[in-house]
Amino acid sequence: MSAYVIDGKAIAAELGGRIAGAVERLRTEHGITPHLAVVLVGHDPASETYVRNKTAKTAAAGMRTSLHRLSETVAESDLVALVTQLNADPDIHGVLVQLPLPPQIDARNVVAAIAPAKDVDGCHPLSAGLLATGMPGIRPCTPLACIRLAKTVHASLVGIEAVIIGRSNLVGKPLAHLLLAEDATVTVAHSKTHDLAAVARRADLLFVAVGRAALVTRDFVKPGATVIDVGISRIAAEGGRTRLAGDVAFAQVQDIAGAITPVPGGVGPMTIACLMLNTVRATCTAAGLSAPEI
Ligand code: NAP
Repeated sequence: MSAYVIDGKAIAAELGGRIAGAVERLRTEHGITPHLAVVLVGHDPASETYVRNKTAKTAAAGMRTSLHRLSETVAESDLVALVTQLNADPDIHGVLVQLPLPPQIDARNVVAAIAPAKDVDGCHPLSAGLLATGMPGIRPCTPLACIRLAKTVHASLVGIEAVIIGRSNLVGKPLAHLLLAEDATVTVAHSKTHDLAAVARRADLLFVAVGRAALVTRDFVKPGATVIDVGISRIAAEGGRTRLAGDVAFAQVQDIAGAITPVPGGVGPMTIACLMLNTVRATCTAAGLSAPEI
C-alpha cells in the first residue's frame, strides 16, 4: 500500500484563489484593501525565506504588505515601540512578528504587545484564551492549516482518535483545542511521554510538530492512519548540500499510512494560506463587515 499524498501546495493554491476573490470583492464593493505588516528582526536565513514567501503570496492575492526590518541587536523596547506604532495605524489590518527573535528579546512580551484585533498569527494570549474557551477569535495559522488538511481526507473529525506529538504554544496546544472543537478524541504527547511509538500508534489522525527529522518511523503509525507532518528541519543531503525534512520518515511511513503530507509542500504552504485568510477576516472585523465563508 502506498499512502495518498496530501498536496498542501495545490490545496493552498486553491484556497489562495478563493481568498483573492474575497479581496477583490472587498476592494470593489467596500474600497478596502487588506494590509499585512510583517516585522523581521535580523537575517536568519529560514526566517528570510518564510517572510519572503508570506509577503509574496499575500501580495499575489491582491493584498498590501509592508516589511519592517530591524537589526539583530534591536532592544525589546524598540521592537515593542514599532509594534505599538503598527497597532495604531488604521491602514494596517494585520501585524505579524516573525519568530524566532534574538536572545535579548522575550518573544512573549512582543506577541502580547500586538493588538489582538490585528493578531493574524493567532498567538496573542487573548487569542489563545478565546480558543481554549471555545469563543470566537483569530486562530493560529499552522494549527488551522493542519485541520484544513486533515479535513481533505476526513470530512468529519467527530470522535476520531487524534494524537499530536508536540505541545508548543505555537502548534501542539492550539491544535489540541481546535481538534476538541471538532469533537475529536485528543491525546497530546511530548518529550516526556512514555512509549511514544505506542501512543502514536493509537491515532487514526497523527500530527507531528517536534522539529526532529525522521522521528516518526513506520512503528509509530497505525495502518491506514492519516499523518500530518508539521516539522521542518534542514538536514545534510548529497553533494554537501542541505535539504528540508519533516519529522516523519516519509518513505517508510508512506508504505503504512493511508494519507500523508510531504515536507516541503504540505503544512507550510497551507500555513501561509491560513495567514492570508486571517488577514482578510481581521480586515472584515475592523470594517464592521461579516467575514466571508472561505
Ligand atoms: P517547539 O516549540 O520546539 O516544540 C517542540 C515540541 O516537541 C515540544 O513540545 C517538545 O516536548 C516536543 N519534543 C521534542 N523532542 C521530542 C521527542 N523526542 N519526542 C516527543 N516530543 C518531543 O517547536 P514548534 O514551534 O512547535 O515547532 C515544531 C516543528 O514544526 C519545528 O520543526 C518547526 O520548524 C515546525 N513548524 C512548521 C510550521 C509550518 O508552517 N510548516 C509552522 C510552525 C512550526 P517538550 O514540551 O516536552 O519539550
